[in-house]
Amino acid sequence: MNIFDNDSFASHEQVTFCHDPHTGLKAIIAIHDTKLGPALGGCRMYPYASEEDALTDVLRLARGMTYKSAISNLNFGGGKAVIIGDPRRIASETLFRTFGRFVDGLNGRYITAEDVNTSVKNMEWIRIETKHVVCLPTYLGGLGNPSPATAHSTFLGIKAALKHIKGNESLKGVKVAVQGLGNAGYHLCKELHAEGATIYVTDINAAALSQVANDFKVTTVKPEEIYGLDVDIFAPCAMGAIINDATIPQLKCSIIAGSANNQLADEEKHAKILQKLGILYVPDYVLNAGGLIYATAEYFHAGKAAAWAKVEDVYDTTTLIFKVAEQQKITTCSASNHLAEKRIQDIKTCENIYARRGKSRR
Ligand code: NAD
Repeated sequence: MNIFDNDSFASHEQVTFCHDPHTGLKAIIAIHDTKLGPALGGCRMYPYASEEDALTDVLRLARGMTYKSAISNLNFGGGKAVIIGDPRRIASETLFRTFGRFVDGLNGRYITAEDVNTSVKNMEWIRIETKHVVCLPTYLGGLGNPSPATAHSTFLGIKAALKHIKGNESLKGVKVAVQGLGNAGYHLCKELHAEGATIYVTDINAAALSQVANDFKVTTVKPEEIYGLDVDIFAPCAMGAIINDATIPQLKCSIIAGSANNQLADEEKHAKILQKLGILYVPDYVLNAGGLIYATAEYFHAGKAAAWAKVEDVYDTTTLIFKVAEQQKITTCSASNHLAEKRIQDIKTCENIYARRGKSRR
């Protein structure tokens, strides 16, 4: 097996496989890059079809966290964890505490957090075994669920995109299609509704769909209808890879801006196709950084007000990416990736200056 030269692994620093037969824990922790600081990223629990799928997912997600942190001017590296299994069957206090012990063994190189199918309660269990965890409940000094902050940064990116192409960021009467009404999608609908947007929604979960339909003025559509709607904005807030060869020809929107991670099935290829079609794609990791920003504020005990204030930065970051993409005639994805990579390289030069504590910044 060729591990170290493998394309998907070559740029990662460390991958740890965690196994405990007693609890059934099978987890993978991927640390992509720690040049800016300790790797921070959520722990996802999912019934992956194969261990290979789990590895591919965690490597891709960890890399995304490096870029998300760098572009958001945070001093954290990129990391992520996946626990393989059906959350309804395997989630337990013992399993999460065991996972917490593995995280503790990394001695702060990786800080874990809530993600898909894990909760603030699960983070509380992990905290019993390690201090390297965020998204804790407020009574433990945490800031709780970061999803409303993710939804808010997505909302800010939508406004910045509107301003960029229309010269005006008002959402009144603007048609938005939201795919996925979970933690992030629900709160995005709440903000869009408050600003007078015309909202179309879909979800494969009937309960999530009726909750949003009860709480806000929306039109519900079937999952397969969401791509072809005649809307201004498409906001993917469910799973990744949904912008692909099959869905792009259906799109009628002029902006794609949603919270889902890794929306483009093939980043380079699909970003170029969208650019040619005149569809403004707001890079997902820039847009959904609100949750990460919120979680890092918890790490520094900065408090809720400071966390929310820092999330507002996403508007300016998004605007900068549009400007650079336009000036350099490149896709928004390339602009964002270049800015993130440049920041990592620039900050590395600080190490040219001798400091008695050595290379570590903490
Ligand atoms: P969630 O699990 O709470 O919600 C996802 C929703 O999408 C669910 O209601 C699910 O039924 C629905 N869904 C799944 N497949 C679908 C499909 N094919 N069509 C329509 N609906 C479908 O997850 P979340 O926390 O809201 O996160 C949503 C996305 O945003 C994910 O990609 C996640 O990685 C990303 N994200 C979330 C956060 C956060 O703070 N919650 C932060 C960064 C990125």
